[in-house]
Amino acid sequence: MSARGHVHILGAGIVGLATAATLQARGHEVTLIDRAEPGSQTSRGNASGIAWTDVAPLASPDVWRKAPGWLLDPLGPLSIRPAYALSILPWMLRFLAASRPSAMRRSVAAIAALNAEALPAWERLWTQTQTGGRARHEGCLDVFDKPGEVARARPGWQLQRDHGIEVRELSGDEIRAMEPDLGPTVAGGAFIPGWAHLDDPFAMCGDLERVVRARGGTILRGEVVGLTANADAVQLSLRDGPLIAAEHLVIAGGAWSRRLAAALGEDVPLDTERGYNITVPKPGVSFRRFIMLAGYGFVLSPIAAGLRIGGAVEFAGLTAEPNWARVDALVARARRVVPGLKAETGERWMGFRPSLPDSLPVISRSRTVPRVVYAFGHAHHGLTQAATTGELVADLIAGRAPGIDLAPYAVDRF
Ligand SMILES: Cc1cc2nc3c(=O)[nH]c(=O)nc-3n(C[C@H](O)[C@H](O)[C@H](O)COP(=O)(O)OP(=O)(O)OC[C@H]3O[C@@H](n4cnc5c(N)ncnc54)[C@H](O)[C@@H]3O)c2cc1C
Repeated sequence: MSARGHVHILGAGIVGLATAATLQARGHEVTLIDRAEPGSQTSRGNASGIAWTDVAPLASPDVWRKAPGWLLDPLGPLSIRPAYALSILPWMLRFLAASRPSAMRRSVAAIAALNAEALPAWERLWTQTQTGGRARHEGCLDVFDKPGEVARARPGWQLQRDHGIEVRELSGDEIRAMEPDLGPTVAGGAFIPGWAHLDDPFAMCGDLERVVRARGGTILRGEVVGLTANADAVQLSLRDGPLIAAEHLVIAGGAWSRRLAAALGEDVPLDTERGYNITVPKPGVSFRRFIMLAGYGFVLSPIAAGLRIGGAVEFAGLTAEPNWARVDALVARARRVVPGLKAETGERWMGFRPSLPDSLPVISRSRTVPRVVYAFGHAHHGLTQAATTGELVADLIAGRAPGIDLAPYAVDRF
């Protein structure tokens, strides 16, 4: 038994893995439990951005301005499957409440507080685990092909500058000089030099998994189907497996965490924003930087495996089949901005962003079972915020005051 105690972590996505490595560095023994291969779910195929320079929540007056147009197109950047419309209604009502200017300002402050530490926390984790070789510090281009959209993007860039983030507005020609494979329709945008991305988010998970194992951590394969607590421990029941007694438990089950919290008596309005992409090994074009096309709701991410083209938000729950026509629609939109794109072959993927209506994660001690710490709901920023979440979780377990005020991420904030 380690001096600081044994921590069980339910979920070996990027959040669980980063948390495990950080806890080990602070002297804990760790056991990760996952029904799937570590990193193989939402953390596998994301766009790979360490998007710490993003401070705007999805829940904003802006999204409600764009939503009606987007929702008219079933393959557009935002869609709700008709069969899921009733199920997502309570979430949407909270989302609406979180979009009010005063609520949005609170979300911005809370995202900015987490994101300010995101890259420094990754640097610390990379240093202590010697896994930093995948980071690319090339910045990102925010690109628009309609002059009106450039004008509408300016308040967002100002918001970033207000948080100390460098944003350089550029003309279409200046953007094409940086990335010549962007086409003539690009009207303008901005360069955000601080943004970073990884060459492969799944490989990053594999790197951390190896470190956790090499430092004596255990990784168990199994599905947790029940949680109960008594005075001494939390009991985890595995399907077809033994009961595990945990002195400390971190719940990092991504989009599947709602049921786990419910087992402990806590109702968390977690749902999923499904996202799609395609990774094209030979796209016929080349980009150095991460490129965001907010007007179209997708990004271009140059990673080791090729060009990853993806994004979109689909509300359809955790069990509906993917709608791969969405990927074809993404490619068609990408061709408007990247005329030389060849995307006939590639790996298509769908992932489940774990999302709360206010665009903030839950990083919080459980109110009903204090030996449980929640670390889920990172939505569009799970890779970005994984390392800093690991540090905050480790602080909570050690009973140490965390570096930032955790009230905005509390489990009972709704
Ligand atoms: C298209 C797309 C693009 C994205 N791009 C970015 C980006 O550029 N930058 C960024 O920061 N974020 C991005 N994200 C978001 C990011 O991928 C997620 O926020 C992040 O992967 C969530 O990590 P996680 O560890 O919480 O969840 P997961 O990776 O889903 O891990 C949760 C794990 O818990 C396990 N689990 C759940 N329940 C149980 C149970 N009962 N028993 C056993 N195991 C269980 C699952 O098997 C899973 O392995 C993107 C997401 C999508 C979909």
